[in-house]
Amino acid sequence: MNRKSVLKKYNNKKILLKIVFLAAMIILGFSRFILHDQKQYADTSGDWRLILVDKNHYIPKDYRMNLIRLSNGKQVDSRIYPSLQKMFNDARASGLALFVREGYRTSQDQQQIMNERIREYENQGNSKRRATKMAEKYVAIPGTSEHQLGLSIDINADQTKCSSEKVYSWLDNNAYKYGFIKRYPSNKSYITGIHNEPWHYRYVGKEAAATIKKQNLCLEEYLKKYKQPDCLFYKIWRYTL
Ligand SMILES: [Zn+2]
Repeated sequence: MNRKSVLKKYNNKKILLKIVFLAAMIILGFSRFILHDQKQYADTSGDWRLILVDKNHYIPKDYRMNLIRLSNGKQVDSRIYPSLQKMFNDARASGLALFVREGYRTSQDQQQIMNERIREYENQGNSKRRATKMAEKYVAIPGTSEHQLGLSIDINADQTKCSSEKVYSWLDNNAYKYGFIKRYPSNKSYITGIHNEPWHYRYVGKEAAATIKKQNLCLEEYLKKYKQPDCLFYKIWRYTL
């Protein structure tokens, strides 16, 4: 073999290696893209009161609940109604004037709220991309709002009769007794991904609510600590469902 053919063979090998490397990179990138793009759905097979819905856990499209209409037209999951009514009765007996400003929402309702917020930020001179990012800090992406579960409510004060602070403070101190938690406290936004929302309460049942309140946890922390085995196999099993 002369020097020229040895060199040619060497170059061919290098080119082949480059092609293999490039192909591997493309496959890796593509699979990462697919995995990243794949929506993860909330696990609704366990305790309905503890379903975790957030930006990483979409509500399955076939999730169904029985809704009940409140006297002001808002709807909630009928299973939380007795606790909600009792909480409101007791709050009113303590001299507070409060009402459910928001209950169950459809995906379309959520999309509309998101669109309005994006438009608001766009009108302030932000690009569509930036406006969307900003809106997503305050508004849940459709499919990821707890309001779509029917287990969450926004509670406001009737400000002609009492202050919001009084209502928020009473709820903060008492809601857990009825099975509700302040879902997005200011000191947990780095976990929940949602800024402080003193009006947003979520039903989780009395037992979980008491533990969450006593131990100063958010729902994500509670589930991690008490309900989800921190095991790689469990995660893989859940992921491949
Ligand atoms: Zn809310």
